[in-house]
Amino acid sequence: IRKRLVIGNWKMHGARSTNATLLTGLCAGVSVVHNCDMAVCAPFPYLGQVSACLHGTGISWGSQDISKHQQGAFTGEVSADMLNDFGCQWALVGHSERRSLHGETDQLVADKAAAALSAGISPVVCVGETQAEQEAGLTHEVIQRQLQPVLALGAESLAKLVIAYEPVWAIGTGLTATPQQAQDVHAFIRAQLSGLNVPQVRILYGGSVKASNASSLFAMSDIDGALVGGASLVAEEFLRIAAS
Ligand code: 13P
Repeated sequence: IRKRLVIGNWKMHGARSTNATLLTGLCAGVSVVHNCDMAVCAPFPYLGQVSACLHGTGISWGSQDISKHQQGAFTGEVSADMLNDFGCQWALVGHSERRSLHGETDQLVADKAAAALSAGISPVVCVGETQAEQEAGLTHEVIQRQLQPVLALGAESLAKLVIAYEPVWAIGTGLTATPQQAQDVHAFIRAQLSGLNVPQVRILYGGSVKASNASSLFAMSDIDGALVGGASLVAEEFLRIAAS
């Protein structure tokens, strides 16, 4: 019931010329990927380029953030309607870098997810504990707290969103959670959803995912794909992850 999903998060990387190389590589190689939905989340100025290059390839695209507001005097913000206006399918919300560097709260993250859904964009809600929280044995507690306002959106909303588990200590560090460690947390997240009857919700793992570790992660029953940072910046590597 859950088709694999692999999303690339370019973060604040890219330039028109290097994007063109990367996107051309993805278009050229996408035929090696079967039974896997692929998407690219690029910085806002490049979404038009991404959209144009990926048109007709089956690879979808999304933003890395979204405003909780619909419109108005919110300088610097980008609304869900604006993104929907030119075909955006996904929006990352609550990435750990936004939570830690931009003070995003659990409630704000849920509000952003609701704003995305209101425009037909599927939010990819990111959760995950820090190293200190993990060492203190707080992983489940932290994830439960982060998910709580998202679960309050209700089953109809949840059915359309994706959850990404990204342990902060594994992001950009080369330290990947072991497949079993990740599976345990994914199963915990799945259990949080259990009363809502949304078995179709995909739970992605993120944190130093590479072609060399993707298949062992994907072998776990509750890992439905990956949210990939660094390795999504190289076409062959990203394609190999999606083909794993
Ligand atoms: P890395 O794959 O570079 O560790 O980044 C993970 C991530 O934060 C994706 O959103």
